[in-house]
Amino acid sequence: MEACAFDSYLTQIAQLTRAQCVRVLALLKPAVDQGRAAAVIEDAAAPGLCCPRCQSKQFYRHGTKSGLQRFRCQACGRTFNSLTGTPLARLRHKEKWLDFGDCMLDSRTVRKAAARVEVDKNTSLRWRHRFLMATKTDRPACLNGIAEADETFLLESQKGARNLQRPARKRGGKASKRGISTEQVCILVARDRSGNTVDFVTGRGPVTVVQLTEHLRPVLAPDTLLVTDANKAYQAFARQQGISHQYVNVSAGEHVRGAVHVQNVNGYHSRFHKWLRRFNGVATRYLPNYLGWLWAIDRERIHAPETLLRAAIGVFNT
Ligand SMILES: [Zn+2]
Repeated sequence: MEACAFDSYLTQIAQLTRAQCVRVLALLKPAVDQGRAAAVIEDAAAPGLCCPRCQSKQFYRHGTKSGLQRFRCQACGRTFNSLTGTPLARLRHKEKWLDFGDCMLDSRTVRKAAARVEVDKNTSLRWRHRFLMATKTDRPACLNGIAEADETFLLESQKGARNLQRPARKRGGKASKRGISTEQVCILVARDRSGNTVDFVTGRGPVTVVQLTEHLRPVLAPDTLLVTDANKAYQAFARQQGISHQYVNVSAGEHVRGAVHVQNVNGYHSRFHKWLRRFNGVATRYLPNYLGWLWAIDRERIHAPETLLRAAIGVFNT
């Protein structure tokens, strides 16, 4: 619309009734919201933008599509935008992404998020995991000072799987064996005293020395003091790797010995279990996503939908 025509159009807005204003707003909201989401995405992607196929930085503008600037690579001729190659590529309805991000920060269930942003519940589930795919990878490179490590367990779940590899269990069922068995999936969590947290789904059954070496070794800074319970696997791991290690004998009633305790990591475990309850059981294959989700929202590490949207395309605040 030309500028002067637009100006005269604007003067008519003042004459709208309240009901008409509401209709105009409803009409404008999707465009405004799509613009907001697109601006967040393009700002986040701009510094590292290159052709996703050949990594060339030589490209030129080539129209817009679905609210995003499109580019054409001078080296390979392919077109791309700021979402190409990210988990959010080709998802529709950008105008709902920031509102959906709000739902994720509020830990809404699939159904509640679907109702809130008015999408199908399958879309809501797909978006949840696409939003988490990159977000979950934003972890501290290493833990420092005193690092507490401990495992927690969840009943293995093949929720949503087409071919069950065992007889079906009632939702939220109980293990048939007592104690830690191969029906339980082990989650190893390590947290230092400044709150940096890493977690690993190590598989079924108790954690092994090999798994501790694979997961914990790379994230422990050289002068870290590892603090655990009396599980022998930690002692063997620390001895083999030359890591300073202290433990509390929790099962013998010893919970704290000066600075030696695992209360921070256990607190994280209980927040995880309590938070997870609302989802009525999650598939084991998605556990890393849920752990990444909790890490994102724990103590409001991510508290704005814009930050979550940036994380969802792999751009993290450093
Ligand atoms: Zn290229």
